[in-house]
Amino acid sequence: MKTLKIAIQKSGRLNEKSVELLKNCGLSFENYKSSLISTVSNFPLEILFLRDDDIPEYVQDGIADIGLVGENVIAETGVDVAYLQRLGFGKCTLKIAVPNNNQYQNIADLSGKAIATSYPVILQKFLDKEKINADIKTISGSVEIAPGLGLADAIFDIVSTGGTLRSNGLKPFADVMSSEAILIGRKGIENEHLVLELLQRIQSVMRAKETKYVVLNVEKSNLDKILNLLPGVKSPSVLPLAEEGWVAVHTVIPERDFWSHINELKAAGAQGIVVMPIEKIIL
Ligand code: ATP
Ligand code: ZN
Repeated sequence: MKTLKIAIQKSGRLNEKSVELLKNCGLSFENYKSSLISTVSNFPLEILFLRDDDIPEYVQDGIADIGLVGENVIAETGVDVAYLQRLGFGKCTLKIAVPNNNQYQNIADLSGKAIATSYPVILQKFLDKEKINADIKTISGSVEIAPGLGLADAIFDIVSTGGTLRSNGLKPFADVMSSEAILIGRKGIENEHLVLELLQRIQSVMRAKETKYVVLNVEKSNLDKILNLLPGVKSPSVLPLAEEGWVAVHTVIPERDFWSHINELKAAGAQGIVVMPIEKIIL
């Protein structure tokens, strides 16, 4: 393979993070809003900007080799593609929601009811699994107004904060699927060297994002205490400071471990703590 083609969302909730991820991988390209294709100048890659709904099929059919899209869209289109990498953004949950004032107790109460959604395939699978017979009304947008209009008794849609539900007099009733952005590929492409190289870059960017470079100063007498508090570190660097009896500890740690230990580090005598972002971590 000479050039790899990746499909990403043209505009919408995944576009910005998708472009940012590719740029963080060191790829240079113009992000023309008006064009469908952009060529990367320093890696054999072409970027196709598409509607997210079209991405799974384009990848399955080989028009793009790989694609970046929400798991929900993959599930809804029912394509047969390879999952290459979960990307940790575009997280959301698909839920059934019902009007605030209704008395549904459990899922079985949805039997015989009308549920409006843009995700009929995912919903039907869920209802089949729960052995519920309901009437699915497929609509393409503004699903949350359907109960108010009398079109449906419940809805099935993406919910993130729940604000849209609340403002339409709805409440979450059942979680059906959680989703995040995923890098998918055409079946069989997993071991292509260009795919592997891009994957390695993506993974090094993701690893770096979760990790911080931390530098702190401590009196030598407190050094052991500090080193015990820094989890998961193989071997921090310890450098002498100009001031007699003091050292600087340099280390790389997961950000969440850092925050859970910050007060203990201070209590153990850490001073001048500096936390820095890391661009890439190559293992
Ligand atoms: P397109 O014009 O490409 O068809 P769209 O309107 O269908 O876009 P967006 O609203 O941009 O889609 O959402 C794209 C994806 O982002 C969703 O399919 C989902 O995977 C993810 N997502 C994450 N959080 C949310 C959210 N709060 N609301 C909607 N989608 C979300
Ligand atoms: Zn869409």
